[in-house]
Amino acid sequence: MNESIAAVAGRLAAWTEAQGRQLPGARVRLSRPLDAPPVALAAQPLAAALAAAEGYRGGPQPQAPYAPELMAFLAQISQCQACPLGAKRRHLVYGDGNPHAELVFLGDAPGREEDASGKPFMDEAGQLLDRIVAAMGYKRGQVYLLNLVKCRPAAGHEPAAAELDACRPYLEHQLGLLQPKVIVTLGSLATRSLLGGAQPLAERRGHWTAWKGIRVMPTWHPADLLKDPGLKRPVWEDMRVVAQSLQSGGAGA
Ligand code: SF4
Repeated sequence: MNESIAAVAGRLAAWTEAQGRQLPGARVRLSRPLDAPPVALAAQPLAAALAAAEGYRGGPQPQAPYAPELMAFLAQISQCQACPLGAKRRHLVYGDGNPHAELVFLGDAPGREEDASGKPFMDEAGQLLDRIVAAMGYKRGQVYLLNLVKCRPAAGHEPAAAELDACRPYLEHQLGLLQPKVIVTLGSLATRSLLGGAQPLAERRGHWTAWKGIRVMPTWHPADLLKDPGLKRPVWEDMRVVAQSLQSGGAGA
C-alpha cells in the first residue's frame, strides 16, 4: 500500500532536520537537495508516492563540475529530469544568442511556442522583445536570451519554488560562462529570483543593481507590456539607460 504524501513529507522533513537543513516550503521534492538520502528514504515506495503526487518521473540531475563551454554544457544537461517539468517538456529551452554577448535578457520560463521550438522568446512577447532589442541598436543574434527554468511549466503557471531551485545551478553556470556586461531581468519573477528580495518590481525597475559582479537592470517583461501598454514607456526608459551605459563602456551604472 502506498504511503500518504503527508507521511512521506514527514519522513523527509525529519531526515532533513536531522542534518540541520530546511525543506523549502510545503512542496516536497526528491531531486536536488537529497544528495545522499538514507537507503530507507530512497526506497521505491517513496519515489512512487512522489511520482503520484506531482507527476514526477525522476531521473538524474547532472552535477558539477559543469562543462566550461556553452554547447558542451547544453549536452551535459540535455537529458535532465531533475524536476517534474522535465517529464512534460517537448524540448529543453537552453538559451539562444551570441555566446559572447555583452547584453543578456533573463525571462522566467518557456511557454508553448518555446517548448515546441526549443528556443526562448518565440511567442508574441518574444516578438515584442525583438523590437525592444532592435530599438536598442542590437539584433536578436547579438544578445543572449534565456530563462530561469529550461522546461515549460503548465500553461498559466509560474515555475514552483522547487523547480526554480532545481534549475538554478544551470542558470548560474550559464551566466558565469556568458559573463555579459549587463543582465536585464524581465518581469517580477526573474528579478526576484535572480536578485532576491521582495521589493515590488515597480520600485526596482530602472535602478542598477548587481549579481556576482555583473550589472543588472530590472524591467517589465514584454508579456506585461502586452497586457498593459502603459508600461512601454518605462521599459523604453530603462532600455535607453542600458544602451547608453553599454555604449559608454559602463558609465552611469
Ligand atoms: S526545468 Fe531545469 S531542473 Fe527541471 S527538468 Fe528542466 S532542465 Fe532539469
